Amino acid sequence: MTHSDPDVAALRAHVDELFPAVQADLEALVRIPSVSAAAFDQAHVDASADAVADLLRGAGLPDVRILRSPRPDGSPGAPAVVARRPAPDGAPTVLLYAHHDVQPPGDAEAWSSDPFEPTPRGERLFGRGAADDKAGVMAHVGALRALARAGEEPGVGVTVFVEGEEESGSPSFARFLADHHELLAADVIVVADSTNWKVGVPALTTSLRGLVDGVVSVEVLDHAVHSGMFGGPVLDANVLISRLIATLHDDAGNVAVDGLVSAGEPEVDYAEADFRADSSVLDGVRLAGEGTIAGRLWTKPAIAVIGMDATDVAHASNTLAPRAAAKLSVRIPPGLEPQAAEDALRRHLQAHAPFGARVTWTPGEQGRAFGAPADSAAMRAARSAFAASWGVEPVDIGVGGSIPFIADLLGAFPDASVLVTGVEDPDSRAHGANESVHLGELRHVVLAEALLLRGLRTA
Ligand SMILES: [Zn+2]
Repeated sequence: MTHSDPDVAALRAHVDELFPAVQADLEALVRIPSVSAAAFDQAHVDASADAVADLLRGAGLPDVRILRSPRPDGSPGAPAVVARRPAPDGAPTVLLYAHHDVQPPGDAEAWSSDPFEPTPRGERLFGRGAADDKAGVMAHVGALRALARAGEEPGVGVTVFVEGEEESGSPSFARFLADHHELLAADVIVVADSTNWKVGVPALTTSLRGLVDGVVSVEVLDHAVHSGMFGGPVLDANVLISRLIATLHDDAGNVAVDGLVSAGEPEVDYAEADFRADSSVLDGVRLAGEGTIAGRLWTKPAIAVIGMDATDVAHASNTLAPRAAAKLSVRIPPGLEPQAAEDALRRHLQAHAPFGARVTWTPGEQGRAFGAPADSAAMRAARSAFAASWGVEPVDIGVGGSIPFIADLLGAFPDASVLVTGVEDPDSRAHGANESVHLGELRHVVLAEALLLRGLRTA
């Protein structure tokens, strides 16, 4: 399939014709403030589920349902929309995922326009959810509309699954997959909730780091004692935990825990100047670690101390602290199992107990990393569709954070090929003020997804 393929050109013309309606429907979704965080009015999340259900019915899916499963605490989960069209005999089924809930708007003053009043400026449409992930919803709707307008059946089974609580950590997701396993079963899963490399360059997200966290505590004394009477022969717990934490990295800032291994280097890199600007690292601060910056973000482990229990400065007195604790957050690369990472961390902490102090590790959460296979029929179909839509070969990228529900999806459907795609670009500012989608990119995504559905008929 090439840029000048007449089948591509005809479908592109259909996408161009229907794109104003796609944009208008995206704007209508953005006007619904469907924040899933508990402090916000959940009636809006119900309203956005209803709106998405209507869009999917209109896109020609005969079986549309709004479903919910309970969360682990027994409270009801947010409404998810599942819309289906069964596969023709012998054809695969494709699950198209997105979410209709959004992050809270945050500081209203930081927005240049009302977060829930979609506002086009230049080539971008601004508004909370305009990119994350209501544009993902419209990518699925738009692709189905484009094929219908071309007079084509999708040619594959299509199940669109639009979740309503992704921004709240998908608490009922695993249960939902169990409750509706047959309804959601698919050969290929397209997760439209990530980013492209930059405007004009499409990407498949082929790696996502996983997460292991927990609390390490250091105990050195039975009780606090006077720092003048006893200080010297014994170091306080704050000093000892600092020394222990310092063993987690070498002098260059690489993670120095045996067993926290890295995956290979990515094929694209993140320019140091961009990273410095995006991360707000202060002038004069040297970056930590070795290798490419993209590798340090995507395919190497990272350890952060995200909280500490120590005497706070206001309450400081001349005493030696008997105990201190720190919460460690470890990002792990694809290929490293969370339990193996946690075991490595625990061994390291215990082996490096400073001055024989008592070191205790209390495990917290675990999330599996995602690493796509090097190649698959579904990935070839996606790359071909992206190249045809953009006229530019796609790149493979990683994301340093996690999409925890991907592990749940793979757990439920271990034989499915998962394609992580998206509508965002580096300027989309998902979760931040002035979130936006680039409308030219969204148009490419709609065409690419329609071409992907075509390509998967025979994949
Ligand atoms: Zn999202």
